[in-house]
Amino acid sequence: MMAGEKIPFNKPWTSGNEVQNIQEAISQRQIAGDGNFSERCHRFFRDEFGFRSCGLTSSCTDALEMAALLLNIQPGDEVIVPSFAFTSTANAFLLRGATIRFADSQSVHPNIDPESVAALITEKTKAIVPLHYAGMACDMEGLKKLADDRGIHLVEDAAQAIGAYYRTQPLGSIGTFGAFSFHESKNISSGEGGLLTVNDDRFLQRAEIIREKGTNRGAFFRGETDKYNWQDVGSSFLPSNITAAFLYAQLIEWKAITKQRVAAWERYYHNLNALSKTYAVQLPVVPSYATHNGHMFYLVCETTSARGELIRHLQQAGIHAVFHYQSLHSSPYFQNLHDGRTLVNADRYSSCLVRLPLFCGITNKEVDRVSDVVADFFRQH
Ligand SMILES: *Cc1c(COP(=O)(O)O)cnc(C)c1O
Repeated sequence: MMAGEKIPFNKPWTSGNEVQNIQEAISQRQIAGDGNFSERCHRFFRDEFGFRSCGLTSSCTDALEMAALLLNIQPGDEVIVPSFAFTSTANAFLLRGATIRFADSQSVHPNIDPESVAALITEKTKAIVPLHYAGMACDMEGLKKLADDRGIHLVEDAAQAIGAYYRTQPLGSIGTFGAFSFHESKNISSGEGGLLTVNDDRFLQRAEIIREKGTNRGAFFRGETDKYNWQDVGSSFLPSNITAAFLYAQLIEWKAITKQRVAAWERYYHNLNALSKTYAVQLPVVPSYATHNGHMFYLVCETTSARGELIRHLQQAGIHAVFHYQSLHSSPYFQNLHDGRTLVNADRYSSCLVRLPLFCGITNKEVDRVSDVVADFFRQH
């Protein structure tokens, strides 16, 4: 096999300014949540993406849990979630007692299929959770058509979707709420971190209270009330100003980061496109309404065993490629709670999808070498 340096699946990127920002936060004695860097992040999200109202959280998981609290999800409520998803996408609602109905993916794309959603809607449906897989927009118009007339809320799991768009709209700004992740594995990171966008003004006040342990501390600090007290349920969802200082150093570089990732993504696509015409392997399909952010490049093999062999073949060449979500409806936790429907597309992505190395800073040479080893594999098999 071809020799060469090992190529990791992900290499967390740093701007080099993180430590300086943290030092500034410390010297200004702004360490707790909602400090000066949190403020700068919030303003940046408003100016750059037009998020009318948003709050940093400790994780995307936290942001999803906040959304479930804000929607007052109760036992008896139903929430429609894609099965090809992360555990938090479902857990946030399950924690409030919701009944989770798993929808299938589209056949050409891992994103939630509006047709599958339509079949699951009942009087009890409170929310639908579109997850923008690989930073590629879900069919938001299709979903809004199902949701809006019935008073059903869309909660965007935009964990992978910072800097990606549905037509001209930034992802995370379309649903009632949007939840982002700044985990190390995402395009922009603070190690752990997240953001909740609130796109419906009816939820603004309560969002602030729930995020601040159920108090009106926010209003107090703005001088709108002379004391603060217990107003509602809540929890501690806000990250420290240290985390925000780290995040801000990356956030202001989002365009350059996205550009580099998209360039690597397109190079993979160009390199492997011919292969997909000859061999049984599918490249990502980008819907016409989606502008993605280069979060992930994946292939879909024809069988689970082909995927396993491809991953091993890459491993032998020092290249780390990985599979992704296992369908939630057939997970050890949920299989006995599931209603028995088969979700063929979710299962196919579960068993046949493989993600190739992609990170900010991956070189053309590295992308070409991975592509060559992949091409090699299909020619031999
Ligand atoms: C990463 C990820 C999450 C979880 O994000 P955390 O910030 O680690 O909580 C949730 N949903 C999706 C789709 C993700 O990719």
